[in-house]
Amino acid sequence: MKTSKRMDLIPPYLFAELDKKKALALAKGVDVINLGIGDPDMPTPDHIIKVMQKAVANPETHNYPPYEGTKSFREAVATFYKNRFNVELDPEKEVLSLIGSKEGLAHVHLAYVDPGDYVLVPDPAYPVYKVATCFADGKNFIMPLLEENNFLPDLSKIPDEVANKSKLMFLNYPNNPTGAVATLEFFEEAVHYAKKHDILICHDLAYSEMAYDNYKAPSFLEVPNSKDVCIEFNSLSKTYNMTGWRIGMAVGNAEAVQTLGRLKNNIDSGVFKAVQYAGIEALLGSQDNISKMNELYKKRRDIMTNGLNKLGWDIKPIQATFYMWIPVPEGSNSKDFSTLLLETCGIIVPPGIGYGEYGDKYFRIALTAPEERIRLALQRMEENNIKFK
Ligand SMILES: *Cc1c(COP(=O)(O)O)cnc(C)c1O
Repeated sequence: MKTSKRMDLIPPYLFAELDKKKALALAKGVDVINLGIGDPDMPTPDHIIKVMQKAVANPETHNYPPYEGTKSFREAVATFYKNRFNVELDPEKEVLSLIGSKEGLAHVHLAYVDPGDYVLVPDPAYPVYKVATCFADGKNFIMPLLEENNFLPDLSKIPDEVANKSKLMFLNYPNNPTGAVATLEFFEEAVHYAKKHDILICHDLAYSEMAYDNYKAPSFLEVPNSKDVCIEFNSLSKTYNMTGWRIGMAVGNAEAVQTLGRLKNNIDSGVFKAVQYAGIEALLGSQDNISKMNELYKKRRDIMTNGLNKLGWDIKPIQATFYMWIPVPEGSNSKDFSTLLLETCGIIVPPGIGYGEYGDKYFRIALTAPEERIRLALQRMEENNIKFK
C-alpha cells in the first residue's frame, strides 16, 4: 500500500547509523556507556506511586476521564503555578490535561496551521515542533540558536513578510538540547513581537524544575500580558521522574487552551484518572525529591564539566536541564565525532545534527548515567587521546 505523502515528510532518522554501530558494539561485547538518554534514570518518588496504587483499585477511575482533565487535576495545576511562579490560572478555562506534553506540542499545529502558513521554530530543537508543521502542511521558518546569542533566537532576523504569515512560534527554556536559559526580558521581547505579528507563542517548559546553583527558571506566563499571546506546555515527566506515566498540561491563553481541547476531543479521550490522581500528588505533595535529583545531576554536571575542560574544552557549567551541549573539535562534524566516540571509547552521544542543521558542530550529553560511568567515559576519552584541541 502506498503511504501518504505526509509520511515522506518525516525527516530521515538521523540516529539510524549510530544505532547500527551501537548494536554492533554491544554484539562484540563492548561495555557501552550511554550518555544519550533524555530520560531520568531514577524512579518516580514513592509517595506518588502509593497514590497511584490506591487510585488504580478505585472503580471510580476506571471509566473515561473528562476530556479536559479532572477538575481536581486542573485545580492542582493552577495551585502549582500560583505557588511556584505566582501566575494565576483559571482552572476552568486556562488549564488542559495532556497525555504528556509531546502530545500537545504535536497537536497544536492542527488547531492553528493552514497549508502555507509559517511556523517559527528554533534550530537546534526538540524535533516534534518541526515535524508537526509538516503534518499540518505548514512551512517551517528556522530561527537559529547560536552560542553568540546565548542560544536565544534573534527575532529581528525574521523577515516581516514571514512573521505576518506565521501562526505559531515555538520557544523552549530551559532548553533541550543546549541547556540554555532565557531571561524575562527576552520573553517580554517575544510577547511584544507576537502581539505585533499576531502569533501564538508555544512555550515548552518541560525542564522548569531542573536547575542548579540557585537558578530558578521562569514561566513565560510571568511576563505581564503574556497570556494574550502564549500557551505554555508543561509536563510531570522530567520534574517527577514520570516519563512513562504520560501526563502533562497546557496552560495560558484561554482561547488557545480551549481550541486545543476541542481538537483533542476528536482524537483522544484524556488521561487515565488514576494517573491524574498521581499527578495531583506530584504537584501538591512533597517537592523534596526535586532538590535531591538536582543535587545528583549537579554532581554529575561538575564531574563532566571539569573532566571535559581537562581535555581542552572550555565549558561553563549549565544552570538548568540535564543536557550539556558541547562543541566538537575543530575540523570534525557531529556525526563523525559521535562515531569516533563510539568506536574508540564505546560512548554513545547523539550528534547535534539530529536536532537541526545548526547543531552540526555539537554533540549532546545527557547527565542520566551514574557518576562512575561518567568518570569511566572521561577516562576512556583521555586514554584514547580524544581532546577538544
Ligand atoms: C522530554 C521533553 C518533552 C516532553 O515530554 P512528555 O513526556 O511528552 O511530557 C517536551 N519537550 C522537551 C524539550 C523535552 O525534552
